[in-house]
Amino acid sequence: MNATGVKLADRVFSTNISGIRKVFDLAAKLENPINLSIGQPDFDVPDRVKDAAINAINDGKNSYTQTQGCPELRASLLDSFNGKYGPKELLITSAVSGGLNLAFLALLNPGDEILVPDPYFVMYKQLALMIGAKPVYYDTYPKWNVDIEGLEKIITPKTKAIVIGSPSNPSGAVYAAEELKAIAEVLDRHGIVAISDEIYKIFCYDQPFTSIAEYYDNTLVLGGYSKSHAMTGWRLGYAAGPEELVQAMTKFQQFTFVCAPSMAQYGGVEAMNTDMSEHVNAYRHKRDMIYSGLVDAGYEVEKPGGAFYILPKAPWGTDEEFVAKCIENSLLVIPGSVFSEKKTHFRISYAAKDETIERGIEVLGKLIKR
Ligand code: PLP
Repeated sequence: MNATGVKLADRVFSTNISGIRKVFDLAAKLENPINLSIGQPDFDVPDRVKDAAINAINDGKNSYTQTQGCPELRASLLDSFNGKYGPKELLITSAVSGGLNLAFLALLNPGDEILVPDPYFVMYKQLALMIGAKPVYYDTYPKWNVDIEGLEKIITPKTKAIVIGSPSNPSGAVYAAEELKAIAEVLDRHGIVAISDEIYKIFCYDQPFTSIAEYYDNTLVLGGYSKSHAMTGWRLGYAAGPEELVQAMTKFQQFTFVCAPSMAQYGGVEAMNTDMSEHVNAYRHKRDMIYSGLVDAGYEVEKPGGAFYILPKAPWGTDEEFVAKCIENSLLVIPGSVFSEKKTHFRISYAAKDETIERGIEVLGKLIKR
């Protein structure tokens, strides 16, 4: 019981406050910081997408949509999957976070195990803990790829699902088709559901995006518009996959989110027809800038193939000690242990102006030696 006498549920104590929030609290005290910590694009939502949502509001499309989403967006999404893989069922969700919540609720009993990549997007771990499931980590250090034999070794009779995050937050890794095929074979042998988080799929710089759904039917694809169209505040995404799973998620959506925001769904239809390649090309350039800047400065770092993050090794000390030094020098980056069970790396987001990235590289160059 706390001071006010409120008896909170045990799950409150099994989840931690986001480490990113701690960096934001420190950042609030800095004047003109070099902010390379942000997990969203630095461009704005395309005007035509904004107009479509505004028109939807003005046209009175303000009520609940069907739980599974408005027919226009559903049709457009199904069309986009055609030819690549055929999901049996589709649900429009309150962004990928909504999809992850529903998927975990629909798949995991308390005590079940879910395979989560290390490093991971924080929600995978915290959601599992929140519902009493156990996150079991598959190590992708140091090159951010999956050790297939290692993966098979950590599977137990309690393993129900795996999260695949490619392109990855926080490492920027993009899994190649061969790697995904090998993972699919392991999952197939053990009857494990793949949850493929494809939120960064348009940000693939060196090769076209491949989904594990192309090789494995038992895949739930989660996608959305937060990163691709900078619509983080609109809360729009989708889940596509095996019929019984998506139907179970739809049932839970009725009792939780009800539907994704209606105007966002109509904006989403326009987003489907909006070319974002100029932004992707600009982000490829930013990726090249930060990667070569770090290599030239002497950092140990893998070249990321996608998303808008890079995860170098801290050159000295723990991740938190090094990041504290960065923040002292007005550079905001995130300690790797926010996304990992290890304390060795730090995450840079290059979703920032070129000039900000250049300032960041300059500071990092000075901090390489303690
Ligand atoms: N998945 C990954 C890998 C992310 O990085 C994020 C956001 O940072 C999300 C999912 C959640 O995105 P949203 O709920 O805005 O769709």
